[in-house]
Amino acid sequence: MARKIGSRYSAHQILGRGSAGTVWLGEGPEGPVAIKLLREDLAADQELVGRFVQERTALLGLHHPNVVPVRDLVVDGNDLALVMDLVRGTDLRSRLDRDRRLAPEAAVAIVADVADGLAAAHAAGVVHRDVKPENVLLDMQGPLGPGGSHRALLTDFGVAKLIDTPRQVKATKIIGTPDYLAPEIVEGLPPRAAVDIYALATVLYELLAGFTPFGGGHPGAVLRRHVTERVAPLPGIPDELWQLIVQCLAKAPASRLRASELCGRLREQLPLLAGMPPLNVDEPDDSEEPGDQDGADGFDGAREVDPEANASEPDGAPPARRAAVALVPGPAPDSNRDTHTSMRVPERDELDGGAHGTARVPRAAGTPRPGSARNRAAVTRRRRLVLGAAAVVLAAAAGVTAWAVGDEAPPKAPGSSTAP
Ligand code: ADP
Repeated sequence: MARKIGSRYSAHQILGRGSAGTVWLGEGPEGPVAIKLLREDLAADQELVGRFVQERTALLGLHHPNVVPVRDLVVDGNDLALVMDLVRGTDLRSRLDRDRRLAPEAAVAIVADVADGLAAAHAAGVVHRDVKPENVLLDMQGPLGPGGSHRALLTDFGVAKLIDTPRQVKATKIIGTPDYLAPEIVEGLPPRAAVDIYALATVLYELLAGFTPFGGGHPGAVLRRHVTERVAPLPGIPDELWQLIVQCLAKAPASRLRASELCGRLREQLPLLAGMPPLNVDEPDDSEEPGDQDGADGFDGAREVDPEANASEPDGAPPARRAAVALVPGPAPDSNRDTHTSMRVPERDELDGGAHGTARVPRAAGTPRPGSARNRAAVTRRRRLVLGAAAVVLAAAAGVTAWAVGDEAPPKAPGSSTAP
């Protein structure tokens, strides 16, 4: 049965659930709409309702082909709802779940669209603060773009800010999804437009690689990597594209491109990427823990778990794919999708502790994982060779000594092919 939302709208069917509320397919005076009904605990917060109304002008004023238009804000009894244009399609997370990785041309076209939308928002003084694949919708009814991509629209503007009130989130907590959080947020600085650029560059990396640059493992480790680790190169990525990603993942916000520049530079690269297949990159394994990195077996640096070990899982199931995880869970989300999480800002010593060698290093497909059985076998082979060479040197040295002591003919020069 339809549920009334304010005097003008009715909600009919759930389209999706997020941590801030549920999105419904609804009907309004001008036809079908999407209605985001915020969680009851948010709707019951009078201070938040006040801010919701204050945000009204900014949210309703954002008009751009790459931003999901907000048509109305409804405050009605216990209901707090955002009425949006209905996008007929899917979200980018579902697309990634299906395809794992996108061809560079399609990935760049989608991210350029989002950058275009962000440029309009930033010009209007609105920072999104929660750019991630879940918040990018793909319009499947419109014409196809470069690489067969659908037009991308950014949604959920203002929602992160809305629920990030002093009451909801203490000064020691941060709002966002760990994998996409800019380092300055982890360090407690106020989020400015550059945080959206960092998050968007993370999305681009993820579309190309199939995993985020600093995700995986404990959320505290994810936050620390944002602050301390350098992004590891993706095998086979065109250099110009890689340079853009690196620049937009710069730790210093001022070093990142602006949204309009990023959009322009990405679109310039589209013709060069036409027809290029998805990158052939192996996904790093997440099961390592920080502190397990010091190479008890003498292996230093980034390391991952043996793929054979995964293959021997009791049920033979593939390892679980990475997902954002709560560091300190906020109010229970009304869905099981681990997005938009409330987290505690880590203490300085947590950030400092063990800050070495946990960056996940992508490898060209087929290259052995550091620490894997294949890799260990190669290391063992190398060690045997080194030991063998050392034995030859020792034997030669012994020969020299014997010759010196025994006053016999000098040994042959190393590498001499003369027969004995
Ligand atoms: P999240 O909190 O994960 O960002 P949302 O609550 O914004 O998720 O949305 C949940 C799901 O509802 C989205 O993944 C999408 O599938 C769907 N959805 C959101 N907005 C719209 C819209 N304007 N049109 C169609 N579907 C939408």
